[in-house]
Amino acid sequence: TIGILAMDAEGNLSGGCTTSGMAYKLHGRVGDSPIIGAGLYVDNEVGGATSTGVGEEVVRNVGSFLVVELMRQGYTPEAACKEAVMRIIKKKPDTAKNIQVGFLAMNKKGEYGAYAIQKGFSYAVCNTDKQDLLIPGKSFY
Ligand code: ASP
Repeated sequence: TIGILAMDAEGNLSGGCTTSGMAYKLHGRVGDSPIIGAGLYVDNEVGGATSTGVGEEVVRNVGSFLVVELMRQGYTPEAACKEAVMRIIKKKPDTAKNIQVGFLAMNKKGEYGAYAIQKGFSYAVCNTDKQDLLIPGKSFY
């Protein structure tokens, strides 16, 4: 999945995501990316979030919606992403050891963060004073 979160000059938020799905997926499988609230969710009052990894686990936890709602409660983007990851790990610790799910989030202040189950989830930031093409996201393992 490629997920994008954007803020315009007036502070309006938007997002998008694409996916190739999962290898060897069943015909007709729908992953998290096309489901609003799972692979992507943006609330212009609060922030936006997007995910990558095993979509089934993201759908089960309505992951991106969860991240945005946690930011609404005051979580930083990274803390919200971490909490969403921890829910997946808590529900299925044995499965979580062997899969990747990562979340990326940005809030209304333009603060951003990410968190994943496994190492290796990185993201890029581009704005008027910062262009960083590889920020390593934190991870549980
Ligand atoms: N999240 C996608 C899916 O489950 C896979 C990906 O990360 O591209 O379909």
